[in-house]
Amino acid sequence: MTLSKSQYTRALQCHKSLWLYKNTPSTQDTPDTKTQSNYDTGYMVGELARQLYPDGVAIEFLTESDGSATASLHKDSSNFAGMITKTTELIKSGKEIIYEATFKIDGLFVMVDMLVKNGDVWDIYEVKSATTVKSQYIDDVAFQWFVLSKVLPLGGAFVVHIDSDYTRDGRLDVRELFNIANITALVAFKLPQIPQTIGDIASMLSGDMPHIDIGGHCSSPYRCDFYTTCHRHIPSPSVFDLYRMRSKDKFDLYSRGILSYSDIPDDTRLSEIQKLQISTTMTKKPHIDISKIRQFIGDIEFPINFFDFETFQEAVPRFDDQRPYMQMPFQYSLHILQEDGSCEHKEFLCGEYSDPRSELIDNMLLDISSSGTIVAYNQGFEKRIIRELAKHDKARATQLLSLNDRFVDLIKPFRSRGYYHPAFNGSFSIKSVLPAMFPDDDELDYKKLGSIQNGGDAMDIFAKLHLLKDKNKRKAIRLDLIAYCKLDTWAMVKIYQKLLQIIGRPMRLL
Ligand code: SF4
Repeated sequence: MTLSKSQYTRALQCHKSLWLYKNTPSTQDTPDTKTQSNYDTGYMVGELARQLYPDGVAIEFLTESDGSATASLHKDSSNFAGMITKTTELIKSGKEIIYEATFKIDGLFVMVDMLVKNGDVWDIYEVKSATTVKSQYIDDVAFQWFVLSKVLPLGGAFVVHIDSDYTRDGRLDVRELFNIANITALVAFKLPQIPQTIGDIASMLSGDMPHIDIGGHCSSPYRCDFYTTCHRHIPSPSVFDLYRMRSKDKFDLYSRGILSYSDIPDDTRLSEIQKLQISTTMTKKPHIDISKIRQFIGDIEFPINFFDFETFQEAVPRFDDQRPYMQMPFQYSLHILQEDGSCEHKEFLCGEYSDPRSELIDNMLLDISSSGTIVAYNQGFEKRIIRELAKHDKARATQLLSLNDRFVDLIKPFRSRGYYHPAFNGSFSIKSVLPAMFPDDDELDYKKLGSIQNGGDAMDIFAKLHLLKDKNKRKAIRLDLIAYCKLDTWAMVKIYQKLLQIIGRPMRLL
């Protein structure tokens, strides 16, 4: 049996996942933009961390990079033998720092991010783009230690991870950007279990597919990439869609064979929203509470500023006063609706090479009307971004923070049970609410947009747009970003109009 480090950790999450990976890899879910973006970030952070231990020799394993914003990085599996040979040669020749040091011993395969000689022993450094040491990293490094200890004297095991408190000020300081956590003792604690674990994996792989049912392990520590395959039997809607029900309670129902809403026993404790989910699914009709919608509409004053930010996050800050993974606003869309039904659209999308904040503030303070309500969908996000902008631009902090006093949240009439449609399926996200209220309306269909159809796409694609060399592709992505953000605020205008119609105060948009 050949077992790599990633296969070992996959098996720790679920034996069946490894069995499927080895036997039916084609049934894996296709990685989404987020997963691909995480790979790219991990690779970039790994390269940067080498500056902590410079002048090492890298065992090259990358064979392809198209230089695009979402470039794929592929391992050349046929080259592994050469990588192992090169690692051995480097160690023999006295090299003391090796990146991606590669070993295969007794069928166990590992690549060590950084292998550093420390006197007579070697230290293992695992680089992670996360901001904390997660428990799964200990298993990951313990497996590396277990394999390497067969051929090398080892000293310490470390996780190099991003320090979320780092704030860039001038040149990037890698010693401040990274934390190095000594996990040697934690790894030592794991080592005695490893031979048994490997034996169990070997015997599992030599048999038929293990019978393992779905559970919390399908999403933790990672979302399993056989999720779709294993969840095929779950109907929609199901108990797993019940709004804010604890995962444990959902699986309790599932383990009793309760899957559809119609199976749920009458004595089950449910919240008011959960009861609405079930009753509207049965009747196939929306629930409407006119007084709650009227109350919400009464809080809104013209001109109404329907407003939405898009943000990006970067593990490695590019600009001064930027922290790792800080939400950096780079775009907004604004529809301003007047009492007579006239509606004006304004937008801002920054350049991809410079700090967006100052120019965004300039435009935003000019564009948002000086009076009237600012409507956001899930306002906590927009208000938090404005608070961050106020910290960044202290001279305009008062002006910025005064915007936050004018926000009203369009999610409120839905969350407060003023309107519930069975097609919400337990989600009040605008991506659920909009198609339920406007089915078959192409103008309001996010799926009809180009390369960017949700906030996650916008975030991941913009964060890497400065790396994309093809000017035409960059231009096309910028147009897609504008179309996407514009739809977010137009959707709010249409939802508001629909709510007016429901309470008998229709408004014609001009
Ligand atoms: S989806 Fe769940 S049960 Fe299926 S292989 Fe993955 S972790 Fe195992």
